[in-house]
Amino acid sequence: MLREPSVAAPIGEQARPTPNLGRLQADLQQFAELGATADSGVSRLAYTPLEREAHQLIARRMRDAGLEVRVDPFGNTIGVRPGRRAGTAAIASGSHLDSVPNGGRFDGTVGVLSALEVMRLLREQGLETEHPLWLVVFAAEEGARFGAPCLGSKAVTGLLTSDDLTRLRDAQGIALGEAMRGVGCQPETLGRERWSARDLAAFLEVHIEQARVLETEGRPIGLVDGIAGNTRVRLIVSGRADHSGATPMHLRRDALAAAAEIILGVEALARDPRRRSTVATVGRIEIEPNNLTTVPGRAVLSVDVRDIDSDRQRVTAREVAQLAYRVGERRAAQVLVELITDSSPAVLPIWLRQHVAEVCTELGIDFRVMNSGAGHDAAVVARVVPAAMVFIPSRDGASHSPQESSSLADIGRGVEVLYHAVLRLDRVLAELEGLG
Ligand SMILES: [Zn+2]
Repeated sequence: MLREPSVAAPIGEQARPTPNLGRLQADLQQFAELGATADSGVSRLAYTPLEREAHQLIARRMRDAGLEVRVDPFGNTIGVRPGRRAGTAAIASGSHLDSVPNGGRFDGTVGVLSALEVMRLLREQGLETEHPLWLVVFAAEEGARFGAPCLGSKAVTGLLTSDDLTRLRDAQGIALGEAMRGVGCQPETLGRERWSARDLAAFLEVHIEQARVLETEGRPIGLVDGIAGNTRVRLIVSGRADHSGATPMHLRRDALAAAAEIILGVEALARDPRRRSTVATVGRIEIEPNNLTTVPGRAVLSVDVRDIDSDRQRVTAREVAQLAYRVGERRAAQVLVELITDSSPAVLPIWLRQHVAEVCTELGIDFRVMNSGAGHDAAVVARVVPAAMVFIPSRDGASHSPQESSSLADIGRGVEVLYHAVLRLDRVLAELEGLG
């Protein structure tokens, strides 16, 4: 564990290279073209050929920046810049390149390109570090395709099970393991490669905020304290499909009407003012037979419950299930509850956040400490290696939509913070290791 950092040299003017915003913008544009949608969004789903294309493009950029690149069996792309001290744990930074369907161009990509820009700046400055530096691009961060998020980071931290490879399926019924093999990954090696504190000293992720707190307060940087966990369940409501003309109202067992009642109940649960930080969403519904003249016989709902408080997260998920059973009983519909995925909230280590906070202060960049309602690879990595997250403002808080946007100036500030955080961490850790 890191002790209170001793003297870290103040950041002088010469040692403050300016991020190259032109090349950042050009790269952002290139990635935006991979899976571009008609309304300037991006659809680059987890473990699809388009996601692989984005990884191949970043691998080329990494090699141009002098990194040694490898792709692990789960599709994570890792670029390594050697350090002066062989055998020391690396300092890593990165994010993801997959998106939700018709998502934005900035989610994940900004963190990957910020880490790349740091590597380029170090090279241009002719700087070596004591520790190796890793640029990590995780596969399959978004849970949109398989219901469960952060699959690439979970695979290397022991949080993905072989059961998940067959159990998690996309809307077409394709199992996770099958999809991984389809794009050249080797999911059968799960468990063989696992990251630990011996490999990595710290992981730093720059990310767009995806909300409007920073913009509203006029602050350029957010340092993340806690990251919400999520419990996701599937509710299967079975009623009876009947003729919509011939069946009188009192004899119906309408699965969709029951589902509607459950959806409003879920919203009311999360809006309860005693639950300060809970959010709950029914983001997906499938009905059968989905026909104008048939009383719906079956409805399948996916519910996503998130909280930074793990007790409230689990209690709310349990209450969602109870609510569904109650509605089902009253409406003579059968309700089945299946767990899709469950991950705990993460509290990121204070010492590492403090380290980044001191860098912001030295650079004269205003910041605030905040929670993240959205999940991130950093929360997964934090289970095995100290992790920190740096948020930059999102215009109008828009995210997971084509409207997602962040200014180049804000991206540039994120790069600066990351650049100096990496260099300072390298010095501080080297001093401690020298003492030890
Ligand atoms: Zn993201």
